[in-house]
Amino acid sequence: MVLPAALARRYPELESVRLRRGGLLPRIGGWALRRSTVDAITLRGTVFLAPHAALDPALLLHELRHVQQFFESRTFPLKYLWESVRRGYAENVYERDARHYAAERLAAASTQSTSREA
Ligand SMILES: [Zn+2]
Repeated sequence: MVLPAALARRYPELESVRLRRGGLLPRIGGWALRRSTVDAITLRGTVFLAPHAALDPALLLHELRHVQQFFESRTFPLKYLWESVRRGYAENVYERDARHYAAERLAAASTQSTSREA
């Protein structure tokens, strides 16, 4: 999958991520979270999007943070699972970190465009 040009211009760091649509992984992630599917699941440098998931910057930036987490620690998948078992999905430190990262980046992008327009 190719990142739309508008998104690549606004968030060039997203170009470092490989995007795939469909496949079994989003459904496996869904089973793990007791939903039918999740919007996206990240494995190392690849983000697997569910068939219905929109190419939303908030989602892609969140998954980009998971890519970084993968490369920061070789035991990340185990730590992620352990966090999920211990605290649940929403309170998992890696999920909190990814949510925070995406929110900050979106806020920075909106500040940038405001100052350009001003
Ligand atoms: Zn996440």
